[in-house]
Amino acid sequence: MPAPAYTVTFLGTSSGVPTLQRNLSSVAIQREGELFLFDCGEAAQIQYRRAGLGFAPLAGICVTHLHGDHVTGLMGLLMSLQMAERIEPLAICGPPGIREYVRLNRRALHTRFAYPIQFIEADTAAVLREADGYRLLCAPLEHRLLCLGFALMEKPRPGRFNLEAARVLGIPEGPLYGRLQSGEPVSLPDGRTVLPEQVLGPPRPGASVAFCTDTRPCAAAVDLARDTDLLIYEGTFDASSATEAHRKGHSTVAEAAQIALAAGVRRLAITHLSPRYRDVEPLLEQARAIFPNTLMARDLMQLEVYRRDEEPAGRP
Ligand SMILES: [Zn+2]
Ligand SMILES: [Zn+2]
Repeated sequence: MPAPAYTVTFLGTSSGVPTLQRNLSSVAIQREGELFLFDCGEAAQIQYRRAGLGFAPLAGICVTHLHGDHVTGLMGLLMSLQMAERIEPLAICGPPGIREYVRLNRRALHTRFAYPIQFIEADTAAVLREADGYRLLCAPLEHRLLCLGFALMEKPRPGRFNLEAARVLGIPEGPLYGRLQSGEPVSLPDGRTVLPEQVLGPPRPGASVAFCTDTRPCAAAVDLARDTDLLIYEGTFDASSATEAHRKGHSTVAEAAQIALAAGVRRLAITHLSPRYRDVEPLLEQARAIFPNTLMARDLMQLEVYRRDEEPAGRP
């Protein structure tokens, strides 16, 4: 059975202050051998350990904005990586100011990090990392201060190998199949050249996940989330509190659902819930009335995101 493209682990799903059930904003997304942490609220590293995530695959930390509930866990985590004798480089992405935040804290605490930290600051839509199989993107959202949404987008993969077409073309079985599958033209023993498109089906879309918090409903969030397999979006307030939500730079759960609908995503997970809601079931109903494939994130909840052509049968 194919492995999921991403495993998403919610480490903190509260807003403003932690509760006994919900820690502050943080979500870990694993893709193949790499793990990215999005936001690093207080106690993110405790939750990280609780979820059984190792430090070794941690490739980068993306901080949405410099409100305390999204960043106060960062220094503790960086110090633990130092204690663990990390030597691998670490990327820290965020709005301008994130580098200074770390530098000031490091100086005030008389601490140092032996592993290299690569800071990537962005204040406009940008590609933060261009890797072999995916891109990490960001775009400014609409909050009370500069706040970035992020998305991990896999690049399209080569189409499926058509054995029948390969036999008809008389390609000898073996290494030539592999080279064609990886997109290389090959020469046959009789001198003919076969192009990959002669034996491959149409390119298959990759999987994608977007993370948008904190924000009022905005076009930038719709653009970033367009056609993603999973949108993680804030729903700080219930549907009746739109005025308060917008004044504070946030969205309601109904607006989260409208963004998901407008962006044509496959699944919506709502996070960054106000601690005033003990029971989030009514909020879930409000969102599902607009976008049925919605769930409320909980701390330590894990979601698997499959590529569309690899989805196990019977999944929502
Ligand atoms: Zn927040
Ligand atoms: Zn905020």
